[in-house]
Amino acid sequence: MTSIALFSARLLSWFDQHGRKDLPWQKQSPYHVWVSEIMLQQTQVKTVIPYYQRFIQRFPTLQELASAPLDEVLHHWSGLGYYARGRNLHRAAKEISANHNAELPNTLNELINLPGIGRSTAGAILSLSKGQRQPILDGNVKRVLARCFAVKGWPGTRTVEQQLWSLSEQHTPQRRVADYTQAIMDLGAMVCTRSNPLCNSCPMIGHCMAQKTNSIERYPGKKPKRTLPEKHTVMLLLRNEQNEILLQQRPPSGIWGGLWCFPQCETASDITVWCEQQLGLSVDKVSTEKTFSHTFSHYRLHITPVHARTQASALRIMEGTPQLWYNRQQPPSLGLAAPVSKLLHQLDQPLPGKPL
Ligand code: SF4
Repeated sequence: MTSIALFSARLLSWFDQHGRKDLPWQKQSPYHVWVSEIMLQQTQVKTVIPYYQRFIQRFPTLQELASAPLDEVLHHWSGLGYYARGRNLHRAAKEISANHNAELPNTLNELINLPGIGRSTAGAILSLSKGQRQPILDGNVKRVLARCFAVKGWPGTRTVEQQLWSLSEQHTPQRRVADYTQAIMDLGAMVCTRSNPLCNSCPMIGHCMAQKTNSIERYPGKKPKRTLPEKHTVMLLLRNEQNEILLQQRPPSGIWGGLWCFPQCETASDITVWCEQQLGLSVDKVSTEKTFSHTFSHYRLHITPVHARTQASALRIMEGTPQLWYNRQQPPSLGLAAPVSKLLHQLDQPLPGKPL
């Protein structure tokens, strides 16, 4: 057997004994595999499972996802983060429904042309659900290959990524492709973990270059460090007489795109003037809470929550910014930005100052 064939043979025999075979999306339709693959980008299996189950219960078919309102899709995505994934899933479902007879396409190129599906996700969908011989290269696979073949450099650079793609392509076997794909993802998630890999339980021990040369910590190469820029915002937690709270919908793209959020302004010092000018509401400021931070991949946002109240309930129509009074006792199905969910939860505590 060639060393290439040995690589997949070792992995498959390990998978037969230790691999995951009862994940809720396994042996399901391409639609199910697609939803799971999108959720699994940036998120671990154990976090994804309950979200996946609720999502599939509400949207059991691609057609039902395509015809659902975006707000409801984002509501089911709330808490998973990286909301562009949910928006793209919904857009792609609409496209598939309109142009592909509500069936996921069978070719890599057609899949890659859909919103939110990159080469690795397309490869995973085709190999896992259709047994097509397609390589994948998600974070787990990058780590396994970089260590086994001592690939130097950060996989975020084009040359290193190309080297890893080429290794992935060479080592994907002709047979049992679905099992092999699951096996290499499982090995990365369960054995060849980012820190403290369990080399003694690994089928590659004695063959893995990083382990043989005692240099595992060098692979994969680290992303060059940079300091995240810092930004500040004030979130206005404005309640009316019915104890409802004002939410506004974010623009469709950018951070928290399409999600519902508290009104935001730059400073808490002139909040009453800001509300008068921006919202057309006369408000009383109640209190300012401690600032907390929310980290995005490209910057850190420091959020200062300010409580306020108003006697008015009528909202000024604001062009391009849908807004509503959110009733926490009977919450509508909306996608909420993570800090908004957190602050709404805290609102169950009594409001400082005199009651409304
Ligand atoms: S031997 Fe260790 S470093 Fe190499 S692939 Fe296995 S777990 Fe990863």
